Amino acid sequence: MHLDDDRVEFAHAIEAFCQREYGTPAQWNELTENDTVATNQVILDKMADLGWLGVSLPEEYGGGGAGFVDECVFIEEAHRGLTPGILAYTTGLTAAQTYLKWGSDEQKKTIVSNLVAGRTEAIALSEPGTGSDLGAVRTKGVRDGDAYVIDGQKTWISVAHIAEHMLVLVREDASGPKHDGLTLLMVPTDTPGIEMREVRTMEARTCNDVFFSQARVPASSVVGEAGQGWKQLMRGLSVERMIIAAFSIGAARRSVEDAIAYMQQRDAFGQSISGFQALRHRVADLATDIAVTRSFVYDVAQAIDEGREDTLNRESAMAKMRATEVAKNAALEAMQLMGVQATPASTAWSSRSVGPWRRRSSAGRTRSSARSSPSRSSDRRRTHECRRTSEVRRHCRILQFRVRTKDVDSGSMSRTHRRGGPHADHRPVHLASRRHVYRYSHLGR
Ligand SMILES: Cc1cc2nc3c(=O)[nH]c(=O)nc-3n(C[C@H](O)[C@H](O)[C@H](O)COP(=O)(O)OP(=O)(O)OC[C@H]3O[C@@H](n4cnc5c(N)ncnc54)[C@H](O)[C@@H]3O)c2cc1C
Repeated sequence: MHLDDDRVEFAHAIEAFCQREYGTPAQWNELTENDTVATNQVILDKMADLGWLGVSLPEEYGGGGAGFVDECVFIEEAHRGLTPGILAYTTGLTAAQTYLKWGSDEQKKTIVSNLVAGRTEAIALSEPGTGSDLGAVRTKGVRDGDAYVIDGQKTWISVAHIAEHMLVLVREDASGPKHDGLTLLMVPTDTPGIEMREVRTMEARTCNDVFFSQARVPASSVVGEAGQGWKQLMRGLSVERMIIAAFSIGAARRSVEDAIAYMQQRDAFGQSISGFQALRHRVADLATDIAVTRSFVYDVAQAIDEGREDTLNRESAMAKMRATEVAKNAALEAMQLMGVQATPASTAWSSRSVGPWRRRSSAGRTRSSARSSPSRSSDRRRTHECRRTSEVRRHCRILQFRVRTKDVDSGSMSRTHRRGGPHADHRPVHLASRRHVYRYSHLGR
């Protein structure tokens, strides 16, 4: 599927925003407190003001009312731009799909208005002994008059520490088959009896152990029907899968773009390594995989917009599986193509006009302002963001992310790194690749 002009402009607007707000390592490090904080609320607030968050959520509950293709464009570009907060947003968007299918009007309004305003929502399903085999959930949710009392532990719960609520899967009845007796509850994270601890990973804090000890929520917190949690979670997962597929494409593109940018700057054996045909073949293979998968992902997204979500179980699973594989391969290959520079505490490279942010129109000019889009949903996208072409040009020289400044020792820089001269910006380099390997290696299933 080819994106129409409006959507291409929307993508450019997001790209320009990412570039302007956190297109340099200094900006990105400041917003993430040197890669110790994964979500930046100021950025989410700005995206909320632009009308980008919840662009596909129903208008009747306060969402943007646009289609799922528009949502995929947003997710893909925001992920490609390493938006500090995109994981929080996509986690909440995934939770929202269950609330929208099964929740009460009140729950839908709360969740959608939170997401649109840049607030975070979490999903708490996994437990220490329960991952793939979700039916083995043991966390108890016992009905006690007008309330549920929750006891147990969830683990690996993304963004729970900054979320307003968690969608928690509890076992209400253990007497029948394991897929029966499960209930979904909408639990405010500030409920007394909930404690959270960080699960340390190579990322900034994202995942949490969540402990429930006599945590009490009103019976009105049930999402859908008590005892039907399993069926509710398993029905119609197409949109949820496609959220992962879309951000995987963004990540894959970013890995390859970073690798190309590096290859164009790195000399070995007296020439730029981007001239070695063996390497060019590898990049061509990745670019082909990404293009083909991206096209399929948008085909499925389009079919969802045409109202065929319930018939797309197989296609959405294929899209998710392929997109996460492509993201993983792209990250692994990019790490190889960047040699030692792909390690997290790496080195620096000189500045040149290369990198994923450089764009030129067919007329040879840097892409300039978007025209106003005709549709109301497009209006919400505020495509005027595209006008900042000079910034794109200014920042296009380098893309360097996620390395601790203290690791840069100018004394140990190679000739290649030094030759940028006094104006070379020897900033720490790290591409998202290694993290992408970690993240995508578990999402494909
Ligand atoms: C970064 C990150 C974020 C996460 N965020 C959340 C979150 O927000 N909320 C949440 O609830 N959970 C979250 N999780 C947990 C995630 O959902 C689980 O990791 C996932 O369900 C797999 O469970 P597991 O890790 O326990 O693997 P296991 O179930 O222990 O599986 C181990 C291995 O066995 C394989 N396997 C299992 N069953 C079968 C089978 N039947 N046939 C063949 N192979 C099989 C698996 O593919 C895997 O390779 C997150 C995990 C990570 C890493």
